[in-house]
Amino acid sequence: MRLSDLKTGESAVVLKVLGHGGFRRRIMEMGFVQGKRVEVVLNAPLLDPISYRIMDYNVSLRRSEAHMVVVITDREAESWKTGVVSEGTTECDSIDEVVRQCTKHVHVALVGNPNSGKTSLFNAISGGHEHVGNYSGVTVGAKVGYRTYKGYHFEITDLPGTYALAAYTPEEIYVRKHLADDTPDVIINAVVASNLERNLYLTTELIDINQRMVVALNMFDELEASGARLDHATLGGMLGVPMVPVVARSGRGIEELLDTVIDVFENRDDRVRHIHINQGTVVEAGLQTVDNLLKESRDELPKQFPPRYFAMKLLEGDRYAVEQLRSCERFPEWMEAGKREAKKIEEQLGEDVETALANHKYGFISGALKETFTAGTRESLRTTEIIDTFVTHKLWGFPIFFFLMWLMFYCTYAVGAYPQAWIEAGVEWLGGLVQRMMPDGVLKDLLTEGVIGGAGSVIVFLPNIMILYLFISFMEDSGYLARAAFIMDRVMHRMGLHGKSFIPLVMGFGCNVPAIMATRTIESFSSRLITILIMPFMSCSARMPIYILLVGAFFPSHPGAVMLGLYALGILLAMFTAKQIMRRFLFRIDETPFVMELPPYRMPTWRATLSHMWEKCAQYLRKMGGMILIASVIVWFLSYYPRTEAAEPRADAYASSYLGQVGKACEPVFEPLGLNWKAAVALVSGVAAKEIVVSTIGVLYAGEEMTADADSEKAGTEPLAARLAASGDFTTASALAFLVFILIYFPCVATVSAIATEAGWRWAAISIVYNTLLAWIVSFLVYHLANCF
Ligand code: GDP
Ligand code: MG
Repeated sequence: MRLSDLKTGESAVVLKVLGHGGFRRRIMEMGFVQGKRVEVVLNAPLLDPISYRIMDYNVSLRRSEAHMVVVITDREAESWKTGVVSEGTTECDSIDEVVRQCTKHVHVALVGNPNSGKTSLFNAISGGHEHVGNYSGVTVGAKVGYRTYKGYHFEITDLPGTYALAAYTPEEIYVRKHLADDTPDVIINAVVASNLERNLYLTTELIDINQRMVVALNMFDELEASGARLDHATLGGMLGVPMVPVVARSGRGIEELLDTVIDVFENRDDRVRHIHINQGTVVEAGLQTVDNLLKESRDELPKQFPPRYFAMKLLEGDRYAVEQLRSCERFPEWMEAGKREAKKIEEQLGEDVETALANHKYGFISGALKETFTAGTRESLRTTEIIDTFVTHKLWGFPIFFFLMWLMFYCTYAVGAYPQAWIEAGVEWLGGLVQRMMPDGVLKDLLTEGVIGGAGSVIVFLPNIMILYLFISFMEDSGYLARAAFIMDRVMHRMGLHGKSFIPLVMGFGCNVPAIMATRTIESFSSRLITILIMPFMSCSARMPIYILLVGAFFPSHPGAVMLGLYALGILLAMFTAKQIMRRFLFRIDETPFVMELPPYRMPTWRATLSHMWEKCAQYLRKMGGMILIASVIVWFLSYYPRTEAAEPRADAYASSYLGQVGKACEPVFEPLGLNWKAAVALVSGVAAKEIVVSTIGVLYAGEEMTADADSEKAGTEPLAARLAASGDFTTASALAFLVFILIYFPCVATVSAIATEAGWRWAAISIVYNTLLAWIVSFLVYHLANCF
């Protein structure tokens, strides 16, 4: 509970004081320290200040100040006590004991540049398995983990990577909001030890907001390998922040890091000191003026960040800070002063305030490093340079890239075919077993046709998907994908996009949903929106089973070409949509220029790559066990009922079933594409998830006789594909039209909701309509063109 919530006459014990260092110190000096009992003398709802009695003194606090003090009442302590005791963990006899326990909860926020190893640190501390990747912007949104260490309970939040705390990108805004609203007790600032110059910039921004902080000098192994030397104790002393060398990947130094966090949390680390980074006489003068003005109404200011910070932000004209101050009485005056001083500075220095502040910060950093850092031979960076001369070479870059892409898809399909055949045999065997063991009846039909026929037809593609993800994970983690994005930058510009859009688009081949979330790293709004909207054209792994099935059935002579053609068609349509439609009619100009980062190559650990791959596969299996299983049972049910005379041939029974009726109703729409009602049904069911198209086909063509299939299986043919080809429902042309339609139409439900979350329902609706219309038109063209040959 917060102190401001207590009513007159109530009392409670202080747990902690939130807010920036200066504020905390002042409040604590007034007696509001951990474990002290405070009583409310008078708290009238509309009255400010509130008066309290603490340590036999009467003091008054502003309501906004009292709000920053966390307390625990006897009642809360009581329920806490019983809660704990019932779990049987610790017995707390007195409120003091409860307070002691409560104050051992430490909220830690992980803040750092993209790719500084925050998530690796997070995993090392909490034992989690969050996704680690070697390019910026892997973590979008915050993840929370827990760890108990030396009697302290840590709650660790892994935040998205940022270079600064300005309000330019969604990540920066997110991190700043988290620091202001969720008030972590201690910040762990992850810093790449071998790239201090750039990484420490964020540290200086964090120093400005004066919160308790520890710097984790991550990837210290790289620093050591390069032969460089860093006197981190002195550097930490200069910055007033304790620094701990760690290697997040192997877990080295993590305990020392946690020890330091505890010391800082308990205010007993004497290395902690709040410094002001000198901004040079001109800027300091302006800063002082605004700062003094703000301090005159100190009580009104937000308590999370110090006045000097707000003064800086007012000079910069920072949107977010302005919003925070807007409600204050003297806001117009401050705003005015900020503008005036900023103008003065610009006139005197010939550069804007933001640049001036940044320059001084960089000056401060390079000065501090000059005294504490000795560069090594930079062995690891040289390796990176050598690889880069080939991989990002003007001539060889592209062939290498295309070779890797080809290798990825080749392995996915060709190598994947072997385990695929084994699983297929297993599914067939299981079907045959059930067929033999069970008495005839509805249940048997449900199991063989609905469950095994439907879900079984999808699970066989798991190996292909695993291989695809293995490649994507490896390319991401090693840093190659960032190079691919770099060399693709020029090509992407042709489409009116950036290289930065490229990584999400490649991820889209795996699954569109995380790929759409990964677009958050794209600063420019229009580029981001375009990338999101063309994402469904990337053939995700859910469409793969359909391709493999139909291509196997109807194009056995040149499967590779057709498959490649489908992927290529998707990419062409994406380019067309981006360039010819979106950039031409909706967003003529692109706003933000940006930097393409090239992180150094890092050999991914097998553990990380495999766990990353497994994560995705587990997701696939969950989908199998859930949505796809349910959908195939529903499809089976609809195809089974209403029951007619059993003697009737199977195909006719389907035609008169509910499913047949739905399909028939849609048939006119699909007829011009050469598709019959069965195909229509498969397409309609695929709206939920594209894998369901295959499971639906699996149910619809469940085979006249399973036993007959068992024979044909021995002959070595692919059962479902063979049945499809034999059914005569598709010609080569209509199969092609069907494939094309699947590629383009309605993105699955999960993708639509991801688009809606990221861009709003309006764009999600547009995407549905546009994609489905385009699918019909292109399929129509393909069907009729194919018929000409
Ligand atoms: P984030 O973007 O800040 O969350 O960074 P990640 O945790 O995703 O890590 C980025 C890259 O740095 C990955 O390739 C990690 O394998 C690598 N990495 C993380 N910690 C270390 C470390 O201590 N030493 C080395 N050599 N590499 C590391
Ligand atoms: Mg991360």
